[in-house]
Amino acid sequence: MTSFSKLILRVALVIWILPLGLTGCKASSNESSRAANQPAVVSADTSNPSQTADDAPPPEKTGGFDGKRAFAHVAKQVGFGPRPSGSPAIAQVQEYLLSELKSYGCTVETDAFTSDTPIGRLAMKNIVVKIPGEKPGVILLGTHYDTARSARDPRTGEVHPMPTFVGADDAGSSTALMLEVVRLLCAQHGKYAVWIAFFDGEEAMHDWSDTDSRYGSRQMAARLSTNGDLKKIRAFLLADIVGGRKARFLRESSSTPALVDLVWNTAAKLGYSGIFLNDATSAQDDHDSFLKRGVPSVDVIGDFSNNGYWHTPQDSLDKISPKTLATVGHVFLESVKELQSK
Ligand SMILES: [Zn+2]
Repeated sequence: MTSFSKLILRVALVIWILPLGLTGCKASSNESSRAANQPAVVSADTSNPSQTADDAPPPEKTGGFDGKRAFAHVAKQVGFGPRPSGSPAIAQVQEYLLSELKSYGCTVETDAFTSDTPIGRLAMKNIVVKIPGEKPGVILLGTHYDTARSARDPRTGEVHPMPTFVGADDAGSSTALMLEVVRLLCAQHGKYAVWIAFFDGEEAMHDWSDTDSRYGSRQMAARLSTNGDLKKIRAFLLADIVGGRKARFLRESSSTPALVDLVWNTAAKLGYSGIFLNDATSAQDDHDSFLKRGVPSVDVIGDFSNNGYWHTPQDSLDKISPKTLATVGHVFLESVKELQSK
């Protein structure tokens, strides 16, 4: 077959499958239940042989956010291999983050600390970008950048090590998203300061509990409480698991309702109601460390319990969509603008 006839065939195929995809999407947007959404999403994906559904839109359509650049940041992190706290690979991520962030011209601070964990005392490092504002008050954005070293098998209940887990979505995607957000916000000085935190040690070192998880965000919240900066934080927007090709975002129930509304209304205004759904979910995450200390916080987290690869070795680069990264990045940029106007 010539490449021309291949092209004709592909065009014909796309024209033929397009109505099926649209019907599926329409049906899913009329339904509020997650179960009703599943088949439509699956049929739209399998009917797209060219994978163009995952291509990033031009940056000017997503507030300047470049989904291709963000995807490259995910690929770079995955290339370092598994990146649990205290590993040689996470040191490579730290170097990469610092060199990228500094290249954007931002002020970058690091907080190196140690944590006592079930597997011993580990060195950890939070990295925080600080963009000054004109008035007192801080808008805080955050992500974790470490990857899980173990997981609990839902069938056997046993905790097992994951030596091959590369965490493309968890936490490659949100780390990539924040890098791209920093690149765009570095040069902009708004009414309030914007701080972007990259947390170490979100994942459990052995098995998730209040003491074995969220080491980096607990460290930062405690430190800001001591030095008096915590009360300056007007809002904390956390991103986690934000790059999946089939990602859907549900309203996280422990998050501050007004902030959930702000982010979801922003997403709706931008035309993203198809992936920012109104169903509720609950997640324990780095926002808890700030919520506990009275900081209004929202966790924008992909529906990980349904993605089929969460905390498994299948969380690999092929699960990541530049388009999803750009969509969520756009929502974060616009939400910051919204918060700057208040
Ligand atoms: Zn995780």
